[in-house]
Amino acid sequence: MSAMYTDTQSEFSSSDTHHFVAESRTSVDDVAARAAQLDHDFGALSAPARLRHLQREIGQGIVLTTGFGPESQVIVHLLAKHDIPIDIVTLDTGRLFPETYKLWEDTERRYGLRIRAIYPRHEAVETLVEKHGVNGFYASKEARLSCCYVRKVEPLSRALAGANAWVTGVRGTQSARRATAGFVGVDREHKVIKVNPLFDWSRDQVFEFVRKNGVPINSLHDKGFASIGCAPCTRATRPGEPERAGRWWWEAGDKKECGLHLGHERPV
Ligand code: SF4
Repeated sequence: MSAMYTDTQSEFSSSDTHHFVAESRTSVDDVAARAAQLDHDFGALSAPARLRHLQREIGQGIVLTTGFGPESQVIVHLLAKHDIPIDIVTLDTGRLFPETYKLWEDTERRYGLRIRAIYPRHEAVETLVEKHGVNGFYASKEARLSCCYVRKVEPLSRALAGANAWVTGVRGTQSARRATAGFVGVDREHKVIKVNPLFDWSRDQVFEFVRKNGVPINSLHDKGFASIGCAPCTRATRPGEPERAGRWWWEAGDKKECGLHLGHERPV
């Protein structure tokens, strides 16, 4: 974990969430070998076939994390339509848009499923707010990363506890950083195979699928929001801006992430 998280991370660095897998999991090298094989296989498969293949190969312990972006909604649709049993989890930071909670409810109703919610540890939120203030993330990058750590990164460790594979909605064209993710890699932080079944989809492909299949998506997309995260840290984008320009828009640089997708490495 990065040293820049130290002010709040220290409460968790020796917690059970960081050593839960060490003895019981296959070695990272074994995980990397399986990831490399899956990455090779995925290139020739459709998105639903990738998910089916993953489920056949890995079996139990596959987790999709969703922030209710259109990509994750497509994956949820495919899982439901093809009856592929994968655990669907969301990290509720407590700072989401009302529209996102509505979409969460609509998605469960549409597909007849329950999405497992993981919440931040309340003691950590209390410490964070006491130190930085309720909207302290605007004051410095350190404070912003601390908030993302408490509300997203640490809860992700609990979401992936015991998992063998982690499915995400990451696409290669979302940002320069994500362009290197590939279909399947290894998240060495959580010691899981990380799977991006829509890695080679364009944004247009995603929205065409959504339209053709009536997949529910966030109503904020109609108001110019391209990538949607926590409400205080997301704005609508202007025409021509990069897809993720509305996330943490007050920070300089084009490599802005909350930390969820920074542990990924391509198969070796
Ligand atoms: S996106 Fe903003 S509100 Fe959400 S966890 Fe990160 S800093 Fe906190």
